[in-house]
Order: sequence, then C-alpha cells, then structure tokens
Amino acid sequence: MMVDFHCHLDLYDNPAEVAEHAQNYGVATLSVTTTPSAFAGTRALGAGKSMIRTALGLHPELAHLRFHELSLFDDLIASTQYVGEVGLDGSNRFAATQSKQLEVFRHVLRRCADVGGRLLSVHSRHACREVVDAIRQFPGLGTPVLHWYTGGVRDLEAAIELDCWFSVGPAMVATSNGRRLVARMPPDRIVTESDGPFARGEAGPLHPWEVGAAYGPLSNIWNVDRAEVDSRIQQNFMRLLATGGGTAS
Ligand code: MN
Repeated sequence: MMVDFHCHLDLYDNPAEVAEHAQNYGVATLSVTTTPSAFAGTRALGAGKSMIRTALGLHPELAHLRFHELSLFDDLIASTQYVGEVGLDGSNRFAATQSKQLEVFRHVLRRCADVGGRLLSVHSRHACREVVDAIRQFPGLGTPVLHWYTGGVRDLEAAIELDCWFSVGPAMVATSNGRRLVARMPPDRIVTESDGPFARGEAGPLHPWEVGAAYGPLSNIWNVDRAEVDSRIQQNFMRLLATGGGTAS
C-alpha cells in the first residue's frame, strides 16, 4: 500500500480514470476538495473504492469568493471525518483577502472542534505562524496535517509542539530546503502526498501512484532503506487514521 494524503482527484483532466487507477494500484488516497460545493461530486468519484477517502474543504485562495458556502460546510461536516484543503495563504497576491481567509479558517476549525476528531489537510504557504496560532485556539479539533510545509524552522517547531503531522511529496523533497525541513520533522508523524495535479513531476502532473518518488530522498534523510521508508509511511498512516477515531470513510 502507498499513501497519498493530499490529492485533488477532481481537478485532473480525467478524474474517474485517476480514481480507478489509485484504487487498483492500492494507493490510500485522501481526495481533498477546494469548495464545499465540490464535495458531493468528488465523493462520488470514490464511491465503492475502499482506498479513497474524501475531505471537505474550502481552500484559502477561494475564501473570499466562496465564504457563503460555509453553511454548506456546516451541513456536511458530520458526514466525513476528513477536512481539507483548508488553511491560510499569505502570498502577496492574496494580501487583500487575509481577513476573509482567517474568518473562514477559524470557522472551519471551530466546527471541527465542535464535532471533534477530524483529520485536517492544511495549507500554510507564507502563513505558517498564523496557521499554528489559529489551530492552537481550537483544542480537540482532531489532528492537523500540514501539507507541503515551506515555512521557517521556528514555526515548524511550534507546529511539532502542537502535535501537528506533515504530508510531504516528491515536489517537496526535490528541493534542498524541503529536505532540510523534512529532516527536522518527527519521522513518526510524516505521510506522503502527491498534491496532484498542481504538483508536477518530469512527466507532467503527479498522480497518487507516483508518491514513491519521495522514497529515495526520505531514505537518505532517515538513513534507512526504501523498504523501511515504505513500512514507516504505512505504519504512520494507520496511526494517523487512529488519531481521528479510525473509521474507514
Ligand atoms: Mn493542494
């Protein structure tokens, strides 16, 4: 079994085909969404596929356009253990939407704390400090998994202190900064991700079954062989599911 804990199945050119292959290749895939209105259709992609779990999200880049979908988020939160993609984006081009982003993210975190035990896939680009500060205010929400973390070391340490997990993929470990950060993350709190189709490899958008491209760099960072990397990722994934109460869908 491979693990892809952050993939936008619904955004590939051929979503049904990618979902089918992920299932057949045995990739435990967290299919994240960017809006609550995309949840039902995206969950249908995984219907009858035991390896695919669908997360309810509202992406920070869309917060200012889709905040009116928070009522739909509230209607759906009881129907899934998985939440994402959510978070904050502090990039310059979203400077004007910071307060709306924070309003949306805090709403999501509050709902997660209300129901408890959610597994969250969290975006934190240029906003790691703010993401960690927001999470800290809602104990009991479940387990945050910071996806493709690119922040500083001090904020990383704060996230580790808060019991955050991390999802890392081939695109992240392809850079020396990414590898340096991964080396500072607890090895028992890391799962793999593709972030496809946004993240790309040499042959185009990454797919769930290509997460193994991260194993070589992980094996160097951890100084263990690839079989041990494979084993750790699977064990971490099972423990991660158990932190949320461990149900299948
Ligand atoms: Mn993503």
